[in-house]
Amino acid sequence: HWRQPEIKRTKTVCTYCGVGCSFEMWTRDRHLLKVQPVVEAPVNGISTCIKGKFAWDFINDKERLTTPLIRDREHNCFREASWDEALSLVARRLLEIRDAHGPDSIGFIGSSKASNEEAYLTQKIARLIIGTNSVDNSSRYCQNPATMGLFRTVGYGGDAGTIADIESADLVVIVGSNTAENHPVIASKIKAAHKLRGQKLLVVDPRRHEMAERADIYLRPKASTDLIWASALSRYMFEHGYADLDFLAKRVNKVEEYRRSLEPFTLEFAERMTNIPRGQLAAAGEMIGQAKSVCLLWAMGITQHSHGADTSTALSNLLIVTGNYGRPGTGGYPMRGHNNVQGASDFGCLKNVFPGYEKVTDEKVREKWAKAWGIDASRLSGKIGQDNFMMVEEAAQKRLKAMYVIGEETAFSDADSENVHKAFREIDFLVVQDIFMSRTAEFADVVLPGCPSVEKEGTFVNTERRIQRFYEVMPPLGNCRPDWRILTDLAARMGHPWGYTHPSQIMDEVAGIAQMFAGVNYERLEGWKSLVWPVKPDGTDTPLLYTDRFHTDDGKAVLYALEWKAPDEDADNEYDLMLDNGRMLEQFQSTNQTGRGPRIWHEAPNWFVEVSPELAAERGIESGAWVRISSRRGSAELTALVTDRVRGKTLFVPIHQGKPGVNEMTGEHHDPDVNTPAYKEVAAKLEVL
Ligand code: SF4
Repeated sequence: HWRQPEIKRTKTVCTYCGVGCSFEMWTRDRHLLKVQPVVEAPVNGISTCIKGKFAWDFINDKERLTTPLIRDREHNCFREASWDEALSLVARRLLEIRDAHGPDSIGFIGSSKASNEEAYLTQKIARLIIGTNSVDNSSRYCQNPATMGLFRTVGYGGDAGTIADIESADLVVIVGSNTAENHPVIASKIKAAHKLRGQKLLVVDPRRHEMAERADIYLRPKASTDLIWASALSRYMFEHGYADLDFLAKRVNKVEEYRRSLEPFTLEFAERMTNIPRGQLAAAGEMIGQAKSVCLLWAMGITQHSHGADTSTALSNLLIVTGNYGRPGTGGYPMRGHNNVQGASDFGCLKNVFPGYEKVTDEKVREKWAKAWGIDASRLSGKIGQDNFMMVEEAAQKRLKAMYVIGEETAFSDADSENVHKAFREIDFLVVQDIFMSRTAEFADVVLPGCPSVEKEGTFVNTERRIQRFYEVMPPLGNCRPDWRILTDLAARMGHPWGYTHPSQIMDEVAGIAQMFAGVNYERLEGWKSLVWPVKPDGTDTPLLYTDRFHTDDGKAVLYALEWKAPDEDADNEYDLMLDNGRMLEQFQSTNQTGRGPRIWHEAPNWFVEVSPELAAERGIESGAWVRISSRRGSAELTALVTDRVRGKTLFVPIHQGKPGVNEMTGEHHDPDVNTPAYKEVAAKLEVL
């Protein structure tokens, strides 16, 4: 009398990019039968991309971690351990190190793939139990420059409006973002608006990707010169009557100072420096100036440079000059990469702010958090902590003694990976919480098996600041525990029995303290409902920011004067090429998830380097040739793909494949304002093998 188990339908949120698509998963036991998009989904409706639909084979992969592991130092291998033994060891060692070397000798990397509630608990352990603000997340390596540009000019670091605003804009400008591959559902919406509704599309990118092919105007600047053309267009707006003088007079500070700073940025100068013909620059200026509403999207092509924060600021300046904030269909939109990189930052995994961007340096803020957490304010540090970049540097110098890394592939994804490996070899105690034995976990002293989103409940924040719930599709595999539970269990062993039994209790706690989330609770997020922060106590959310005031002390935006600075690394006689790198549609991060199972992997199994037709002709390279690329740091051997997506002496390599991968070649250069590595400024040479 055996009966087939019922099919279960569960709402979940995709974990592969910041678009935040939600859909139903149809399962029977642990078998995923299908991903079913539904019209009620607030962001994507019935759309998904290939990853959201098919990239779930990892859930039941035989290499999933299912039990805690402790390094056996004598034999340099891991042995299985009980949760009790592993958590007791972690608690004891962290407290010992804190007591011996001080709170700032320990650093935490929260996960931009874990939930908001888990980000909150990560920073709570760091701040409340250890007493350090050294907590960070992978936004350091992608979006912090964009956030800085927005903080400087308009006040919030998040997207100014929602994806619906992007769809409804008169003109969409995409800069340094391969949107069709990295945020596919947003790209689909732009393609539809462009084709069916006459939305204009302006793309600026050294790489001729799909959106560049579709654009009404495509500008192809020399890499690392974006601040110049953006500032030249701001100047063009003032000179040609497109500056919104009324908006500037009423809502913006430092207008004249900024205008004076634009003096050097003539079209002639911009043409000379960027290689964009001045006629094309003027055409772009006319297109922006005449548009009734402009949304400007940007991503890693802007941020992962030695001055990405300044360039992000220049883009926001251009929007302010033209009055493109605070109205439907306007604003700046840094495209978030990881699915919850926005949430990890919002919920406090940053070195300088508590959840809701409340500053650790503000005594009153510390008093508020201390009171809510039931401790004396003197126990919360007012010193800005170390970020991801600084932690690695400090560990390599043996000054940082312990790190706790949750769900991040630091050993693979951080720039200058040899330096990261050195840091992990030097550090006294490394804890990694993950779902696979990642390259980072290979260095760990203790590995704790967490759960992917489908095995727990929680919330994520997508690129447009939208908070959504996801539900448990299936129970945790083996002996795995949801990450919020691991952190709760660990805190209890460190003398803080918080006793959370469901993530909704964690969200209630945040909402009771952080003003930004005052009206957020699980009831208001039930099912397909969602909220866009900031959320007032009565549950009113804010899809469009800056309608009446900017998020600054006096409510006015700031035009921020800038100078262009040359990149820290450029081609020379020996390393005569520039190596660009980025993501592909089919893969995610280190392929730890998308690389398991045939459905996705067979779409993009091989590592390759894009070589321009000009360079291929000069060096006699054909597609399929085996080549070696080298930078001053390292080298890789891979297949050449001759394509006009790249131009001249620029190479492009996907970030996903290879062992050790592209970060063997990236280096130590970084943006001094935010410590984001200049991943995209790498001088390289190429040999045909
Ligand atoms: Fe997932 Fe992004 Fe694809 Fe949507 S667009 S299905 S969030 S990877």
